[in-house]
Amino acid sequence: MQEKIKILKVKFDSVTLSEATKKALDLGNDKKQHYIATPNPEILLEAAKNNKFKKILNKSSLNTPDGIGIIWAANFLHSIRNTNSFMIKLLKWLYSLITLPFSKKSILKERVTGADLVLEICKSSVNTENKIFLLGAAKGIAKETAEILESKYPGMKIVGTYAGTPNPANEKEITQIINKARPNILFVAYGAPKQELWISRNLKNIPSVKLAAGIGGTFDFIAGKLKRAPKWMQKLGLEWLYRLFQQPSRIKRIFNASVVFPIKVLFTS
Ligand code: UDP
Repeated sequence: MQEKIKILKVKFDSVTLSEATKKALDLGNDKKQHYIATPNPEILLEAAKNNKFKKILNKSSLNTPDGIGIIWAANFLHSIRNTNSFMIKLLKWLYSLITLPFSKKSILKERVTGADLVLEICKSSVNTENKIFLLGAAKGIAKETAEILESKYPGMKIVGTYAGTPNPANEKEITQIINKARPNILFVAYGAPKQELWISRNLKNIPSVKLAAGIGGTFDFIAGKLKRAPKWMQKLGLEWLYRLFQQPSRIKRIFNASVVFPIKVLFTS
């Protein structure tokens, strides 16, 4: 479909939100089973430590960049592709970080977040055969999310919701519930890497599911437990700052994404 771009040894697809939605819907109606992911900088740092997780990400049918840090890394790595000098790399690294909010050209077409993808898939599933199941998040959130989605997009079909846990001891019960509902599209909200590991262990045991997607905190956003940053902040790549104000406990994760990740990209380039 399009060129794959690797960042910290994880492949990405260069797609717009509408191309990613179309691809996801095609996968959801394929004969084979597929899963997709929306890696962000924290996820890549986790994958760099966890080989099993990295392999799972590299075997997915679609990886979209969830986070300005991924867009930045693709552009930076492209800009130094013919450079061996560390000094030049360092200067380009500094320049690319300073000019990040204003940079227009991008190697990866655009940021495609789990939250945007879920909304678009649901919107495009109105009056189709697609049957969607929402798994994960805190108790009651998936159900609330389903009610909101069904009132926003009348004619889409949500065939089940369940919080459950990503604990393997809970898997048999969860796969039985999913098999009764027979969805072809499954959204899993257990956060990374738990959701991707869950999908990789269980996909073969839920044969009606043709597309499974790990979508992180998406249900919390749709159910209104968390707010997305205003569009202007998203455009400037400052969604992480907005999230920090809402969830100060994420400071370590945000530090990893905004400081550790760019340094690691520079030193592994
Ligand atoms: N979550 C869950 N069970 C767990 C861990 C996480 O249901 O054991 C849910 C959590 O309630 C949230 C979602 O997973 O709705 C994503 O969590 P997180 O904020 O860590 O992920 P991110 O948005 O950063 O991908």
